[in-house]
Parts: sequence; structure tokens; C-alpha cells
Amino acid sequence: MDNCKVVCITGTPGVGKTTISKLLNEKLLKKGFKSKLFFINEIAINHDLTLGYDEEKGFNVVDINKLNKKFSEIMADENTENEIAIVDGHLSHFCSRCDKVIVLRVKPDILKNRLIKRNYSDNKIKDNLESEVLAICSYEANEFHKGKVNELDTSDLKVSQILEICMDIIQGKTYMSIGNIDFMDYFLKDNQQI
Ligand code: ADP
Repeated sequence: MDNCKVVCITGTPGVGKTTISKLLNEKLLKKGFKSKLFFINEIAINHDLTLGYDEEKGFNVVDINKLNKKFSEIMADENTENEIAIVDGHLSHFCSRCDKVIVLRVKPDILKNRLIKRNYSDNKIKDNLESEVLAICSYEANEFHKGKVNELDTSDLKVSQILEICMDIIQGKTYMSIGNIDFMDYFLKDNQQI
């Protein structure tokens, strides 16, 4: 099992973190692993770890230091012996209590459609697309967890394939090193309104 206990599933909003985290947790349980799912945003909200609402950006700003501390406490309180924690959230990679990070990526065109469906404002869509193209989550995750960060382009994969790769990563059978995914061409397209 590669001593892997805490697996952070991160990425830009809309890449599929929650979808994959839930199914991954179910798959792990079905395969006989002791697995538990945590939602980092819920932890931040339930423990009142927000600094306030950013009107311009359209989201609650989370106090990362407090979140990190609280998450470490939660992990210490859990009986994590032989247990895997799947941690869903685009802030999960800021938590120091983490054994592996999986950054889910998706082509900006696909992401844009998903964010439009969520009725995000134009500004919020633009910010998130920029984050995806510039691989901000991968960059941040690598700053905190060098050598533990996997990056997966889900654009052309079925959910079942994504789950298989995540299972292999968790079990130490594969490592998807960062730096191989390049969505920069999205910025260069003619008439592209990011
Ligand atoms: P996140 O948690 O990263 O914000 P979600 O899991 O909520 O993303 O997924 C965003 C949307 O994309 C949802 O409508 C979901 O059904 C869809 N989705 C997620 N993963 C995939 C996938 N691999 N293929 C197709 N659609 C997906």
C-alpha cells in the first residue's frame, strides 16, 4: 500500500474532483480497503475557518493556516490505522497532512462549458480558466508536496479509466509526474474569449 494514507484530490473547480473522490472512495471500500471521504470545503465552513466573502471573486476566502491546523487535528483524531483518507477540494493540497496529491486536469474548453452550466459569472469563469491553463493547483501542490504530486489529464478518459489510474497511484503502482500537461494553446486560439 506504499504507506499511503491521506490522498488529496485537487484541481480547478469543475475538473471533476467531487465526482471522482466519491467514486474512488466507493471503489476502495468495495475492494476491501478502509477508506473515508473528507470534503475540505465542508471542514472550512463547518469550523468557521473563512475570513469573509470576496464579492469580486465570488467565493469565501478560507484561512489556510487554520484549515491546515484543523485538518491535522481531524486526521490525528481519526483512527487512521490502515485507513485511507480521500480528501476532496481545491484547497486540500495546502494541508500538510498528506501522503499523495492527485491534481485532476481538464482541457479549458471542457472546463468552460462545465462552469457556464454552473452559472458562474464571466469573471469567475475567466479566473478559473486562467488557473487551469497556468496549472496553478499543480504549481501550488508541488510547492508544498514535492515528489508526491501526480497530475492527470482527464479530458479524453472515461470515469472508469480515471478511477483505475487513481487506484494505481494510491497503491504505488504508478506515478503521473507533473509538468507533462500543457493547455497553453488555449490562450493562443483566434477569437478565444477566455
Ligand atoms: P469539482 O468537484 O472539481 O468542482 P465536479 O465533480 O463537481 O467537479 O464535476 C463538475 C461537472 O463535471 C459535473 O457536472 C460532473 O458530472 C462533470 N464531470 C466530472 N468528471 C467528469 C468526467 N470525467 N467526464 C465527464 N463529466 C465529468
